[in-house]
Amino acid sequence: MARSAFFLLLFCATNASLVLLYPFSLARLLLVAVLYALGTGVMLYLLFHPRNQWLVSNRSQVEQDGCIALTFDDGPDPVDTPRLLDLLREKNVKATFFVVGQRADRHPEIVRRAWEEGHLIGNHTWSHPPLFCFLSPRRLRSEIERGAECIGRICGVRTRYFRSPIGLRHPLLRSVLQEAGLEYISWRIRSCDTMIRNPNFLARRILSNVASRDIILMHDRLPKGTQVTLEILPGIIDELKERGFEFVLAGSRETVHGHADL
Ligand SMILES: [Zn+2]
Repeated sequence: MARSAFFLLLFCATNASLVLLYPFSLARLLLVAVLYALGTGVMLYLLFHPRNQWLVSNRSQVEQDGCIALTFDDGPDPVDTPRLLDLLREKNVKATFFVVGQRADRHPEIVRRAWEEGHLIGNHTWSHPPLFCFLSPRRLRSEIERGAECIGRICGVRTRYFRSPIGLRHPLLRSVLQEAGLEYISWRIRSCDTMIRNPNFLARRILSNVASRDIILMHDRLPKGTQVTLEILPGIIDELKERGFEFVLAGSRETVHGHADL
């Protein structure tokens, strides 16, 4: 809570610095510009950096050496997610899916299939609000709780893992995740599959950056489809297996209350 209070103080102080403009002079304008830029810069870093630990503790690596965790956000998609699940089954690879509650609610059979095939399901909020860092405390709680409830209803177990939309932080995220019993999972490798449409470039970007224990961020639902990801994934899996890496889940399938098969 102290960190949330400090963040609020920083927000207020940054905006309050504008009063120093009065009475106006060039020197005061420069001073305010520096203070405002500094305060805003620190706030943006705290809210946007995916591995920043200050507003919420998070993990961007798996524990086991020689392992890699593939994570897929924003699904399920009625077409692309089953295709991805087929591919993962063919390659005998388990992955982690951070699902959006509303979409999981529309396609529960896909989420259930992923869970039953040994993948891990994490909470990616109920509706994937793009301005996650500006949500009211009530909406923040409801986005996280509804997402968790939906996964529990579908899989029969309560997920222990959470990732926010676009990796954005919220000043109250630490306490809300603690209340909900959720751990924040970030990533070391951002594939940029949301932007890169060239398959070779996307594959190279992943393969040239990946290292032991990395968690990789990809998507199983994109506005333009995930054809590029589906096209390069078999090659990426083969190449990483050849390098000696093993694919693991980003967390454990055991629930807080006991074994996963409740
Ligand atoms: Zn997302």
